Amino acid sequence: MSSVMSTLSRPSRMMLLVNPQSGKGQALTLYNNHIQRMLNEAGVTHTLFITERQNHARELVKEADLSQWDALVIMSGDGLLFEVINGLLERPDWEEAIRIPLGILPGGSGNALAASVHHYSGASLVSTEELLISCGFLLCQGLVAHMDLISIQLSSGPRLFSFLSLAWGFVADVDIESEKYRHVGAARFTVGTLVRLASLRVYKGKMAYLLARRTESTPCRSASEANAGPHDSLLPPLDQPVPSDWVVVEEEEFVLMLAMYQSHLAEDLFAAPEATSDDGVIHLFYVRAGISRAALLKLFLAMEKGTHMVTNCQHLVHAKVRALRLEPLSPKGIITVDGEVVDYGPVQAEVHRGLARLITG
Ligand code: ADP
Ligand code: MG
Repeated sequence: MSSVMSTLSRPSRMMLLVNPQSGKGQALTLYNNHIQRMLNEAGVTHTLFITERQNHARELVKEADLSQWDALVIMSGDGLLFEVINGLLERPDWEEAIRIPLGILPGGSGNALAASVHHYSGASLVSTEELLISCGFLLCQGLVAHMDLISIQLSSGPRLFSFLSLAWGFVADVDIESEKYRHVGAARFTVGTLVRLASLRVYKGKMAYLLARRTESTPCRSASEANAGPHDSLLPPLDQPVPSDWVVVEEEEFVLMLAMYQSHLAEDLFAAPEATSDDGVIHLFYVRAGISRAALLKLFLAMEKGTHMVTNCQHLVHAKVRALRLEPLSPKGIITVDGEVVDYGPVQAEVHRGLARLITG
């Protein structure tokens, strides 16, 4: 469980961002049928902002007068929250802005954070609609915990901040290929997994990480970032070797790499059972090449209940880390951050413990 640090003041004023296109395109209907009355009865004043296009939410929170709001709530999939978090950290007052409590209501096809919040509250797996009710209820309770954010450095483009996952190989491919099945809702990942299994491939790359238990690691002297957000103290420049206290993975052939910082990767993918929103840990999983299709399928089926670590799969490795680097060697491929595609190439990540605030149970 995440440790609760405060409660939203009453009556609270929420900025509620709804993506009408997320998931099966039902977010607004779900709001009208379930959420509006629930919030009103709980004395939560809220103003609806309907997003009109990609990056609209990011622009809204970048410009918003945050003193008007007690919380920002996202009703969509994880993609919209990714925009909101990055928008907050692009503000000149990012240090203050990122402390606004963030809430999530599942309205998309990928509702990993909503499923995680529901799990942290101690509740068990439920259907998508029950998940929405549960998250609405938790939102009305208004308990606020810390949430780790992971800074992501790529060789091009600005730094990104991630609250959920960094993926390469099988999982990233499934996430993106399954976008075309979004009309089936959360089942899109199951369909995508079965399709991808049929054309299972190997991804070549180099991986290295800093184990979480080594707390006394030497800060790196990286070039100071011109843009906003906290300083990355563990990461050397991406074109320089990793420090000597990092673990360099021997293998260079993989089926997948998945770094997780919440318990769920999707509603029915309980990928990191030990993870909480504020443990300061990146749960790094990778699967070595050589695994059979049957064994990989078994892993994904076990992941529904979070028992994949006890299946004794020799190809699956789990490490708790504070920082990591991936240098893909395969010429083409997909890397995702919180389910969104980023530039393919070398990438490194570092955890910033408790940087954000999450309305949780
Ligand atoms: P899902 O889980 O269904 O993918 P997301 O929250 O991840 O839901 O949303 C997917 C994408 O939709 C996000 O990248 C977001 O920027 C984009 N988006 C937001 N509002 C709109 C809109 N009105 N039309 C189209 N895309 C939008
Ligand atoms: Mg998405």
